[in-house]
Amino acid sequence: MNEIRPPVVTILGHVDHGKTTLLDFIRKSSVAAKEHGGITQHIGAYQVEIPKESKSRESEANRGIPRKTRDDLAENRKITFIDTPGHAAFEQMRSRGAKVADIAVLVVAIDDGLMPQTLEAIKHIQKAKVSMIVVVNKIDLPGIDMKVQLAKIKKQLSDQKINLEEYGGDVPLLPLSAKTGKGVDKLLEMILLVSEMHEIKGDSTLAPAGVVIESSLDKFKGPIATILIRNGTLKKGEQILVGGVKGKVRGMFDWSGKSVDSAGPSVPVEVLGLESVSAVGAKLGKEAEVTDEAVQVMSLIEKLKEGETKTLKVVIKADKQGSLEAIQASLDKFNEEKKVIDFVFTGAGDIGEENIKLAATVGAIVVGFNVKVATNAAKLAENEHVLIRTYNIIYELLDDIEEVVNTLLEVGQLEEVLGKANIIAEFPFGKNERVAGCRLTEGAIAKGQKIRVIREGQVIGEGKLKSLRKVKEEVNKVEKGNDCGMLFDPPIDFAIGDIVESFRVI
Ligand code: GDP
Repeated sequence: MNEIRPPVVTILGHVDHGKTTLLDFIRKSSVAAKEHGGITQHIGAYQVEIPKESKSRESEANRGIPRKTRDDLAENRKITFIDTPGHAAFEQMRSRGAKVADIAVLVVAIDDGLMPQTLEAIKHIQKAKVSMIVVVNKIDLPGIDMKVQLAKIKKQLSDQKINLEEYGGDVPLLPLSAKTGKGVDKLLEMILLVSEMHEIKGDSTLAPAGVVIESSLDKFKGPIATILIRNGTLKKGEQILVGGVKGKVRGMFDWSGKSVDSAGPSVPVEVLGLESVSAVGAKLGKEAEVTDEAVQVMSLIEKLKEGETKTLKVVIKADKQGSLEAIQASLDKFNEEKKVIDFVFTGAGDIGEENIKLAATVGAIVVGFNVKVATNAAKLAENEHVLIRTYNIIYELLDDIEEVVNTLLEVGQLEEVLGKANIIAEFPFGKNERVAGCRLTEGAIAKGQKIRVIREGQVIGEGKLKSLRKVKEEVNKVEKGNDCGMLFDPPIDFAIGDIVESFRVI
């Protein structure tokens, strides 16, 4: 059952053009914020509900919109905003921000016009193929010649191939002041309108799919992740897998800090109960909306990492026998040392249902060159979670496959994780060494095994165990559920909250 869901909006633009001020104004003026006495948590995103009686509804934002549509609109008046994060992963998140969003609001300060980061943001938005709304901010600034400045900005936008509404395009432009709030209500109406026109829908009856937009390690609560639910519903108590990290939803909180039992499409929630810190951008469940090329390749790689098999099974369809042979010959070079690509089926013609059925059965991906995907095949692929990639340029096809194969080769010689432990305490040892007080969460860790210490998904040190103690007694092995003290050789600069993994190279 498809229902209208709130649009997910990201605000992009050059530094100091007023993104934070705008996000803050919207957050503070929202009904929910007032209900909660203005107390809001920062979880990387928030939702606002737009009151129906908003003044501008009857005026500008309703230009040419039939009454029926307007009434429908009145039923769903929530918007999810992603906060632009100011941490180190800013660049990365910014591009991801555009990808997880349905609508991007581009903020341009009226006195500055388009600046380098504005241009960068435009590129991200265009690449992610999300709808755009341009906001010209700071119109309250004294001494600004509105007419001249607006004309200048419109010209600059046109130069960037942005088709503004007033020139017959589909990108609205709104002058406003994030500081005084003038025009912000119009922006909110505009967002709802754009969302309505694009029929942004979700299905709350499905299993949850979502993306991590923020994650951290809390001293008391353990790993925390803000997951933006893209589709389906996430429920408290549910077992989840987030980009390879397992967990059980122990608690969920919305942006106002309120504990919630479930979160449906477009809802951002802070989730407690993951076993370790997950990466920003990691996915919950099967994210079916794979539109961006890089995301597609990433999900392919993730699939391979999860999979038991270490060969890439492919079904190849191409327009002509000749191109088929050329592709196969180029890909065969990867098989010289050992077989990494398994050609399950190759044939000329469009990608049909039977190709997807085969791919689903054997766990293959489907690669098309200069061919189309039949509608029923695309549907089946979505249901069966079969990845289809089509190309018109042979080098792009080869590049993508090469990336996947390289990952495969790496994974092929990866290690087997034997045990995992959380560092829950630390004790001084000798002159300047420290013992890590650990609790085993998986498998077993034994002396002599290789170990590594992981923080927020990053390896911070590798070595062996010099000493392994249960209470005061030196032991050879500690199993899941037990506590122990570990002394690393060489010493590793661990911290409480880090994870210790023991592994062997296969
Ligand atoms: P960001 O870097 O894009 O997040 O920009 P900020 O929201 O931090 O704003 C940068 C500066 O511009 C701050 O000093 C804000 O107070 C100021 N500012 C933001 N919006 C407005 C506005 O509408 N009018 C005026 N006069 N100043 C603004």
